Amino acid sequence: MQKTVYNKGSYNFRNNVTIDWCPGCGDFAIVTAVTQALSKMDMDPTKVVAISGIGCSGKTPHYLNIAGAHTLHGRAIPYAVGVKLANPDLNVLVMGGDGDMLGIGAGHFVAEGRRNSGIVVLLYNNAVYGLTKGQAAPTMPLGEKVKSIPRPSILGKINPSALALASGYTFVARAFSSEIAQLSDIIIKALNHKGSSMIEVLQPCPTYNDVNTLDWYRKRVYKLENDKSWDPEVNSADEDEEKFSRAYETAMTWGDKIPIGILYKNNIIPPFTERLTSIVPDYFKYPPANQDICDKNGYT
Ligand code: SF4
Repeated sequence: MQKTVYNKGSYNFRNNVTIDWCPGCGDFAIVTAVTQALSKMDMDPTKVVAISGIGCSGKTPHYLNIAGAHTLHGRAIPYAVGVKLANPDLNVLVMGGDGDMLGIGAGHFVAEGRRNSGIVVLLYNNAVYGLTKGQAAPTMPLGEKVKSIPRPSILGKINPSALALASGYTFVARAFSSEIAQLSDIIIKALNHKGSSMIEVLQPCPTYNDVNTLDWYRKRVYKLENDKSWDPEVNSADEDEEKFSRAYETAMTWGDKIPIGILYKNNIIPPFTERLTSIVPDYFKYPPANQDICDKNGYT
């Protein structure tokens, strides 16, 4: 096997694969924010993995110079959890669209909040299924009419950040693809967080969504960190109820003003790996307890 050559501080996390997203797509900025975050962290490229589902967002791992997998529709999260549990030392990034994660993958999205296994979920929110010609995604508001659908949407929308909070994610943030520095900073904080993180990234799809455009978002987003009293960190059970309620109310704020930034960060709920080892202390010990069975069957 070829040994990875890694020069600390100078590794290029963007590979030379040509990106084929549409011009003006918010996905470009997300790739930049991810590579900036990994570079700033001086991340060992052998310690980070990118897993995606199906959709335009699913191509993200193709453009990163790290290990990755482009998996099944809606199944990126369980695949990523498998990677994390096989090697808890890995930093596992999950990339998926609103359609992928809140449509067919909604059950997995919710289950991961309860599990809190320590993965970082980046949910690209552009309100449409871009890869399949712009059908209404689960984040499209009731009554919204974009150019790719013949009539206004007759379904209500899911708010990804509010759903992540309700599901139990211990780090929840909302970002905007054009605010690359803020997004990159949020990704670093999420990678340093012990439990599972969900970062909703608002991004334009200029090809199919002519309502939620770059300018539409620019006029509305405001940064939570500009409010000096904003403190999303929960470090004791006493402060959780108040900070959770404030985070939920802020996540539900949508319209003329849309808040972006870290909504909630709970530092006291133990991740799944710690819960496992509290019951089975040798759970992640190598070689595993069933090593003899593996040897016998040629799995090692
Ligand atoms: Fe981006 Fe939309 Fe084009 Fe997909 S269809 S690459 S989301 S602009």
